[in-house]
Formats: sequence, C-alpha cells, structure tokens
Amino acid sequence: MKRLSPVIAIALLLALSCQSRNDVSTKADPVISDALAQVNIDSVRTYIDDLVALHTRHTLSTQTDPERGLGAAIAYLERRCGRWAQSAPAGRPAPRIERVYYTAGENGGRYDRVVSVPELMVTLPGTDGARELILMAHIDTRVLDVMDSTAFAPGADDDGSGVACLLETVRILSQIPLEQTVKCLFVSGEEQGLDGSRHFAAKAREEGWPVHAVLSNDMIGNSRASGTELHEDHKVRVFSESRNGEDTDSRQLARYIKETAGIYVPDQEVVLNYRSDRYGRGGDQRYFQREGFTAVRVCEYCEDYERTHQDVRTENGTDYGDLAKYVDFPYLVRNIKVNLAAVMSLAQAPATPAKVRIANAGDLDNNTILTWEPVLGKDGRPDTSVTYQILCRETSDSEWMAAMPMGIQDRVAATAESLMEYTCPLSKDNYFFAVRALSADGHPGLPAVAQ
Ligand SMILES: [Zn+2]
Repeated sequence: MKRLSPVIAIALLLALSCQSRNDVSTKADPVISDALAQVNIDSVRTYIDDLVALHTRHTLSTQTDPERGLGAAIAYLERRCGRWAQSAPAGRPAPRIERVYYTAGENGGRYDRVVSVPELMVTLPGTDGARELILMAHIDTRVLDVMDSTAFAPGADDDGSGVACLLETVRILSQIPLEQTVKCLFVSGEEQGLDGSRHFAAKAREEGWPVHAVLSNDMIGNSRASGTELHEDHKVRVFSESRNGEDTDSRQLARYIKETAGIYVPDQEVVLNYRSDRYGRGGDQRYFQREGFTAVRVCEYCEDYERTHQDVRTENGTDYGDLAKYVDFPYLVRNIKVNLAAVMSLAQAPATPAKVRIANAGDLDNNTILTWEPVLGKDGRPDTSVTYQILCRETSDSEWMAAMPMGIQDRVAATAESLMEYTCPLSKDNYFFAVRALSADGHPGLPAVAQ
C-alpha cells in the first residue's frame, strides 16, 4: 500500500486506541462448539477406570498378558480407536491405526534388558492434509522405584488423563472431516527417559511429516496442590520454550491455545508458562522441539505429590497413589476442550505466512512497513481466499493485540516482487509485529513474527 495520508493515519490510530486485547479474536465456529459439547465426562471416566484396571502400564511390564501391562494397554487403545474408525462417516477420510515399535535398553539407563517397546499412532487424515497437528500423551506408568515393572501403578492422572484426552479426541474427530490431519501419538517410555517421544520425533523428521504443531498432554486432571492445599480447577498451564531469550514458534502456539480457549472454553484460563517445563523436569514435547518442531506441554496448574509416582499405600494416615478417585473429572473435561478447540481451529486455518519482514527496518520512519510471502493454495499459487491480520505487542507484553482492525485486506498490496505489503502507523521501535493468515470463514493460523 502507499503511505497513509495523515488524516487516515489519525483515524486508524484512534480506532487502535479503542481496541482491547479481545479484538484479535475471531468468532466461534459452531462446528467446533458442537464438537466440544460432545466431550463426555462418563466416557472420560470409563477410559481412566479401564486403564487403571490394567494394574500397571510400565514400559518394562508384560506385553503378553491380556489383562495387565503395556501389551494389554496398547491392545485396549487399538480396540477403542478401531471401533470409532469403523464408524467414521462417508466423506471422512478413514482413520488409520498403527502399532509401532522401538528398541530400548541398549544403553542401559532405566532398563534391565533390551526390549522392543510398542506405541500407538492414530491418524485422522484431513481432506487437505498439507499439515499435521499432533496430540501426544504417554501410556506408561511408574511407582517410586522406576525399575519396578510389576507393582500396582495406576497412573490415573499421570498420564491416564492425557491418554483420555487423546481417546476422546479420536472418538469425536473420527466423525468430523477437517481440512488438516490430526495425529494422536500414544507414547511409551516417558518415565524411563522420554524414549518413546524421542523415537516418534526422529521418525517424524526422517519421514518428513508435515508437523505444524505438537501438544503434549501430561497430567491434566488434578486440581489440588499437595503441601499448600491450593485448589485451582479453572487454570491450566501451557509450557513453551524460549531460545536465547527470544520468542519461539512454540510460544506462538501457546498463545494460540490461550486465544482459542478464550473463545470456546471461557471458564478455563490458559496460563502461559514461559519455561520449557517444570524445574529440573522434562516432558515428551522436548524431543519434538529439539527436532525443530513447534511443540508445547499442556499440564495441570497444581500438582499433587501424594499421587505422582507414588506406591499405592497409606502411611501416617495419608493415602498415596495415583488413583482415579483423585482425578477432578470436570476439570479434566475442560482441559480436553482446550485441546480440541486449538487443534480444530488450526485444522481449519491457513498456513503460517513465510518471510515476514520489517521492510523499512533501517529507516527513520515512524510507520512500520511489513512484507511477507503470500500463503499458497493447493495449486501452488497465492491463495486469494485468505485474509491477513497484523498483530503487535509492546516489548514487555506477553500477548498479541490486533495492530489494526480486522478487514485490512483492501489495504494489503502486492509489491513488484509479489510480496504482500502493509504499512502500519505504529513504530517498529515500540512494538513487536507479527502477521497471520485467516481462512475465508475466519479461522486464524499461527502467526509469524516479523524479523
Ligand atoms: Zn507423566
């Protein structure tokens, strides 16, 4: 676009000064709202009861006993997902359920032998499928002794809650066609050293999966903090890494989850935690981040150390153990909805604009000229159905605001080099800027920060 006349610039600034942060948000999509309404507390309770009944899901536990152990757990997940896949409606690309194995224990560590470990991958193919959205949770459980593969290790919250989130996602999304592919990874080996997710991250890299975003759900069903007795059942944390103190793609994803939760699950507050994980601890998102993928961890706000990794027992009048009766099911249901809202919105959204730049970075100019490559359609040509939104935030702010009101499309111009260009009457010295694309029906994609 050409430089704004002073009158228009003042009008835009006036419009801007009236905006609140909510203005970045788009309207709720009834398809997503309907899907969220299908999240069923009784189904979720059943999954966790069934998983706990398997006695242990330890990575080194039996793979041949049909009643207990990791083998029985994988078979259970296969059965459940297989039933839903079979009832997928016509017009919905058929879900795929694949059991995969990796070898563990060759380097010792938390293994007493070399073992072939099973995992499960459920793919819900999109009608477009250019991008993949991954939900991940770990099947395996443990007690205090991480090598004890036979003790009762119920793992109702850690990580039965995350597994229940994935199961409910497969149940609901196997019936709804979405544009992009959703993949649910049920990983093993988390408690032995994140081995299963490391295996999946390497596989994704080697096989060139078009991974767009990864949400690892690990412990999302507890609302009580042991020791302090804080009870927080309307907050959930999303951990996102920083790199050299800079914003990362993972952080854009975390903000996106907060934004979609604000639209679809307003009674659940997403707390952005600008750390890769809790103190001295890690999770399955780590190896996806290391492979260069956009990945975050979703985790309950309060943790109960009388549950996590405990032997089931009573000691000095205190009950220990990660049993289903301690899971806060209404809280877990809300967290499943937070996941579904973000994933479904991203599955209907355009790609992230590439090469977003501040074109006048070196100029003494109080306008900021942004350029970016247009998002391409299936035919490889610029997709004319998408619109763009300019986001900004002050350098100490954590969340994006709309830099301009919606509907700037008529003021976005293509340059001679076929780049999109927009001149924003805000100083590049005072704000960070980002650009994101929105689908014709208003689903926003992940933003790219202007460099
Ligand atoms: Zn865990």
